[in-house]
Amino acid sequence: CQATTQDDAVSLRNDESPVHGLTEVVVGVLGGGQLGRMICQAASQMAIKVMVLDPQENCPASSLSYDHMVGSFDDSTTVEEFAKRCGVLTVEIEHVDVDTLEKLEKQGVDCQPKASTVRIIQDKYQQKVHFSQHGIPLPEFMKIDDHEGAKKVGELFGYPLMIKSRRLAYDGRGNFVVKSEEELPSAVDALGGFGRGLYAEKWAPFVKELAVIVARGRDNSISCYPVVETIHRDNICHIVKAPANVKWKTRELATEVAFNAVNSLEGAGVFAVELFLTKDGQILLNEVAPRPHNSGHHTIESCYTSQYEQHLRAVVGLPLGDPSLKTPAAIMYNILGEEEGDIGFQLAHQLIKRALTIPGATVHWYDKPEMRKQRKMGHITIVGPSLSNIESNLAVVVEGKRLDDK
Ligand code: ATP
Ligand code: MG
Ligand code: MG
Repeated sequence: CQATTQDDAVSLRNDESPVHGLTEVVVGVLGGGQLGRMICQAASQMAIKVMVLDPQENCPASSLSYDHMVGSFDDSTTVEEFAKRCGVLTVEIEHVDVDTLEKLEKQGVDCQPKASTVRIIQDKYQQKVHFSQHGIPLPEFMKIDDHEGAKKVGELFGYPLMIKSRRLAYDGRGNFVVKSEEELPSAVDALGGFGRGLYAEKWAPFVKELAVIVARGRDNSISCYPVVETIHRDNICHIVKAPANVKWKTRELATEVAFNAVNSLEGAGVFAVELFLTKDGQILLNEVAPRPHNSGHHTIESCYTSQYEQHLRAVVGLPLGDPSLKTPAAIMYNILGEEEGDIGFQLAHQLIKRALTIPGATVHWYDKPEMRKQRKMGHITIVGPSLSNIESNLAVVVEGKRLDDK
């Protein structure tokens, strides 16, 4: 039997045996949280085998993965062992053992995005240095090593002043807003002291926070998702609105900054670029994540290709999909733990039950074994004809009342 069409020819490898399905590459994901879980969901549709490495036996991705290796993604021997079982390594969290990833890369292991990218991003100060060297607009920032240095930065940048941990930060844990010089010592203590590695950022007086998911293929093709607005509560992502209700020019600028930021990094996958929009229309970069992101959950229901499918396509070297919206508007609402334990589960269940009565709403539950205050337990995406229509539906879910029953 001979390959007669170009498609047939493309699906034949060097050894002339056909690829079964989309790819036979086993994707190894460092981390098995909700992002890993949603990667596994997208993979299942395409029959792509995803293995996860996570220390928690019942982590959100465990039951949906092809295989789950129980172990730390921050431990050298474990990561090396895991790598042997995968065709390509990727991440759903940036706080991984990057020294080992670099070592593995030198031995020929395929890491997407590249270990150098994860290294830059996992140190938020280093990340800022990198982006400023690439001409990306940022709030001013400076490393602080002692109280004298912190005071000097306070004088330079003014108050409020944002102090951040360089490493292991997420959901605002690692940030401290300092209102005056007197508060500096307690802020430094609360963040674990100068030894932990701190830096200061000038306060960004933003009018909105925006985000752009950017995908980069193995052939270096870059594709940007529509700009969204993210609304944070207590530093934690709370609501995402797609598309962002901003001027066309702002969308263009946000997309350009996001494109340039990702273009300065190496490797394939999806990246999330968090941005500030200032009163005078400037776009400043807050931070980049080298993986799928909370601001892209909505893409599962609202875009032709979800960020999770896109990430898989990118890391295994398939063509990127269409990132555009297939619905006029979408809102994503994070289900955050309101109380510890059973009361928290009960409150979340009530919210979910209301969401199930809403047309266009989809509920995602991450199946985390423990309920904790402010923990991301699930999310709800509502799609609809306009943002205002969805906003009133969301009010029904959140406040439990119909607009007409005041
Ligand atoms: P994530 O969960 O997104 O990784 P994180 O812990 O890394 O969060 P940041 O993204 O640095 O934290 O900051 C969290 C939030 O704090 C931002 O989304 C924004 O609302 C606010 N913030 C951060 N930096 C500044 C700044 N320089 N000026 C004003 N607000 C800021
Ligand atoms: Mg972060
Ligand atoms: Mg952030």
